[in-house]
Order: sequence, then C-alpha cells, then structure tokens
Amino acid sequence: MTETLENLVLHALGQVFDEDKDKNIVSLGIVKSINIESGQATLILEFNKDDPNIKKIFDESEKALSEIPGITKANIVTTYHSEPKSNETLQGDISNSDSEKITPGLGTSKIKYILMVASGKGGVGKSTVATNLAIAFKRIGLKTCLLDADIYGPSIPTMFDVHEKPVSDGKQIETINKYGIATMSIGYMVNDDNPMIWRGLMVMKAINELISKVNWGEADIMVIDLPPGTGDVQLTLSQKLKIDGSVIVTTPQDVALIDVVRGLKMFEKTEIPILGLIENMSYFVAPDTGKQYPLFGESKTEKIAEQYDYEILSKIPHDPLLLEQCENGHPLTDLVPEHKVSRMFIELAEVVLKKLKLLRLANT
Ligand code: ADP
Repeated sequence: MTETLENLVLHALGQVFDEDKDKNIVSLGIVKSINIESGQATLILEFNKDDPNIKKIFDESEKALSEIPGITKANIVTTYHSEPKSNETLQGDISNSDSEKITPGLGTSKIKYILMVASGKGGVGKSTVATNLAIAFKRIGLKTCLLDADIYGPSIPTMFDVHEKPVSDGKQIETINKYGIATMSIGYMVNDDNPMIWRGLMVMKAINELISKVNWGEADIMVIDLPPGTGDVQLTLSQKLKIDGSVIVTTPQDVALIDVVRGLKMFEKTEIPILGLIENMSYFVAPDTGKQYPLFGESKTEKIAEQYDYEILSKIPHDPLLLEQCENGHPLTDLVPEHKVSRMFIELAEVVLKKLKLLRLANT
C-alpha cells in the first residue's frame, strides 16, 4: 500500500517543474526524501539558497500532494545547500566542469571517463560485452568500475557471481569488488523474484541512488550496462552525469539496431557521442578448420554503420566459452586473457580509450 502511494507521490512530483532549468524536481534531485505513514506524506525538498523558484515549487508540490487520493496530510520540509564550486568536486585531469551534473564527494565525481554500453533489444550480448570490456580496461591498466543500470534485467550479479548484498551504513553504499573491478548493480539490492517493471519515476530514483549514494571512489573509467532501447534510464543518466561516449552492441540481423541508433542520436544532441558499433555473434569459427561462417546470413550492421557514418569497432564471434562464462560467473577476458576473443576485447578497449582521449582533447 505504502509503496503504491510512494509511486503516486513520485509521479505527482515528477510533474512539478523548475521552469528556469526546464526539468522536473525529481530529476533535479530537489526531492531528497519521501516518507508516508498512515496517509501522511512527509517530503524533504533541498534547494540552492539562491533558487528564485523555491516558493513556487513548494506551493506546486503541496498542491500536487493534496490531489493524491489516499494522502490525508502533506508536510513539506525545505532544506538548503550552496552550489559546490567546480574545484571542490573534481580532481585530476577530469575536464568535466558542469557542476549541476556532478554529485560532490560520493558518486562519480572522481571518475575520469564514463562510457555507456547500449543496445536496441535484449539478448544481443550487451551485458557480455559490457562485462568483458570492463575487464579489458582493467587489463590495459585502467582502474575500472562497472555500473549495471539494466534495472529491468540486471545480469552483472550472475556474470560476476555475486550473491551478497552491498554494505551500507544508511548514507552510502559500498561497491562490491570482484576480479579487480568495482561493481554495483540494482540486482544486488533486490530479490530475484521482485518485479522489475518500474514506473519512470521509480527508475529515476533508483538510478539516482546508484549514482550518488554509491562510494565509487577514484577510477579511470566507468562502464555502464544500460537497459535495451532508449528510455528513462538513458535520459536520467544523461541528465545526471557527463557521459563521455556510448557504444552500441548489435547482432548481424538485429532490426532493433536502427531504433537505438535513432534514439541515441537524440542523446548526441545532449553531447553523448556514439563512438561506434560492436557486432556481436558476428560469425562462428569452425574449431577443426578455423574457417569463419556467418551465423545470421547477410549482416545489416555494415549498412546502418555506413548510413549513419559510424565505425564498426569490433566483430566478436559466437564463442561457446563466452556463453559458459556467463553461467560460471567469471568473465572470459579475466579467466583466459590470452583467448582470441579476450584479445579482441582488449583491442576494443584500446580503441575505445583512444577515442575517449581524442574527444576529451577536442573538447578542452
Ligand atoms: P543482453 O545483455 O543483450 O540481454 P547478454 O549479454 O545477457 O545479452 O547475452 C545473452 C546470451 O547470449 C547470454 O547467455 C550470453 O552468454 C550469450 N552470448 C552473448 N554473446 C555471446 C557470444 N559472442 N558468443 C556466445 N554466446 C554469447
């Protein structure tokens, strides 16, 4: 009952906008906490001291809550913080100075590069690529972390064989470190049988927590495993973080590729460059002859890459060992780094890193 009411409250608050910033107060992080007991909602809103819209937002939030059936009373508490200075939030050569997108202290502020791994639909191997690519970044000497933001079907707990819950003191959540990678997944926090079909605003809240409440610490690169398609998660992440680039995983016959390319093109306007495509399960190598056979007939990837002027960064074969590693919970690139497919992931990591560095240079 309380959870349903919380959803309704979140949804209602998602309709309250800070007009100057043209974003709703949930995605702006103004809504700090919601507590509902016996129909009474207590809300904490946190503003910048000099925000000119405090009163308007307060009144609209109060009105939005009063219109929710089941909420008998609304208590709104306002708190204030001052805008962090950019040099308080960033260290090293991180050129991201957009303080609105950065959570000071905790969170991702000490991560040099953030890379999203996207796909048009499920089952193309997005999580397999995200996982092995993260390990490959570690292998080329980068301090790496992995965020499983696929809140509808998190795979990282299985792929990293993690079954414990992250440690938390109520204020911050510690990452789970495995195979030399700091990981966090929404899958660590919920039971397997929990329904994951969350409404948009619940999604935003969950993603906010994964970003800002997790003690990510310092890292060279964060790999984010996105849910398939382009939806609330991508939107929330692009609003909250300075994402340095994305790669799209596809299979040769994936008709959904075109949708995600179009979807991510929208994000290119919000400054998330698409670095290229990764064709997974591209071909099969006969173990006796070493000959390559296409698995799905003629590939659609080349055509789309040409049409949109994207590079195909890698063509990963179908390999039974990659499949096995999913079941065993130990990524192939870590388990057998000299394997041909592992070496392909390491080459891919080198190419992606080079592109990220070039983009960073071009932007500074
Ligand atoms: P997605 O994240 O796109 O839903 P997954 O990474 O979970 O996809 O992969 C779906 C299934 O395909 C998994 O069982 C995985 O082991 C398998 N798989 C992915 N890529 C390959 C590959 N190149 N060769 C063999 N099996 C693969």
